[in-house]
Amino acid sequence: MYQKYIAVIGALLCGVAVSRAVEDKMVLQPGPEGVDKWFGSYYNKQGVNNGILRVGGWGDYYNSLIKFDGATQTVPGSFKRAELWLYHFNTTRPTDINMWLLKTRWSEAPWDHANLAGYYLGRYYGPSIGSGWYGIDITSSVNYWRLAPSLNYGLLLTPAANDNRYDEFYSSDSSSVTLRPKLHVIYDLDFKMPLPGGKAWKLTVEAGGKANDGIDDPFHKGTTYYSLDFSPWSVQASGIGPMYPETDAPVLAMEGGKVYFVGNDPGHPNGYHVKIDHGCDNDTSSGFQTVYSHFKSPPLVTKGQIVIQGQKLGIMGNTGISTATHLHVTAYFQGTASGEGTDPQLNQLSIEGRLIKDYKLNSLSPSTPIFYPSSNVIK
Ligand SMILES: [Zn+2]
Repeated sequence: MYQKYIAVIGALLCGVAVSRAVEDKMVLQPGPEGVDKWFGSYYNKQGVNNGILRVGGWGDYYNSLIKFDGATQTVPGSFKRAELWLYHFNTTRPTDINMWLLKTRWSEAPWDHANLAGYYLGRYYGPSIGSGWYGIDITSSVNYWRLAPSLNYGLLLTPAANDNRYDEFYSSDSSSVTLRPKLHVIYDLDFKMPLPGGKAWKLTVEAGGKANDGIDDPFHKGTTYYSLDFSPWSVQASGIGPMYPETDAPVLAMEGGKVYFVGNDPGHPNGYHVKIDHGCDNDTSSGFQTVYSHFKSPPLVTKGQIVIQGQKLGIMGNTGISTATHLHVTAYFQGTASGEGTDPQLNQLSIEGRLIKDYKLNSLSPSTPIFYPSSNVIK
């Protein structure tokens, strides 16, 4: 019987694990958080805080100021790059833009810009003719602000020449709310196992529904195709030695994010459960989400809470439609999953460097357990 307890560790069967991070982003609008305005070189020197931002002109030429307070906020994964998006309209003679990283404080109050000083960042091609979104990579600036948040004074945009060329953008005061300036903060997500590290955990159902008891699981299909079940049995991370039953195993966030739903009804099909948006932008129609189901007791986090990787969400249990204590974990992209294993975003999502679709049962003998190692750390 001892043979039964010699664990087969996933890594040995499924090839070498490769770190494959995926991208997600936070979309920040200034709104009440940010400030922006434009000012002229002759008229309107004191600045105009209305619904537009202007860059360009001739003789009397225009400059714009913009600041994103949210630029320095913590992101769930590792910061990668940042983009400023401005919506330009009725552009006929676009001007290239010189960008400056401001090193002095200003506000929307008149005259404040008089002593503006900045570091020159470079010249950027202007927007195209017509209307549409215009993006500028501002990674170096956001990187600087993230290192020194107190020095986030924003950006100055000036025309590259005084030649009667002209760009006009909607500002954060525009009544066209969805066309206001945006900051995209883009980061890499690196998911870890939803169970404690230093161990390897028994997989019981793979993505697509194949289960180790031979009964195909309908909750790992369609829009929940990218689901895995783990049972409360572990072996050492090395895969050597007997497997141990786990009591009250903590369920951990696979990556940082924002809790957007807490299921407090044990009678719900998912039982006590938690949903995390890894985009942190209150918009589950963008980026990646993960859902953790069937907790033993009410979740340990609340809706709207920011969680970090490894944060304890609840205790593995058997609530909802569940026949034994287990963790059912699902990954979504834009709030759902498309197709039966054909979602291009979720197909590249990995946990511990292994694609979700590569978390497989033993193909020859599905009931012979396979254990997958975790490096997650309880926070
Ligand atoms: Zn399941």
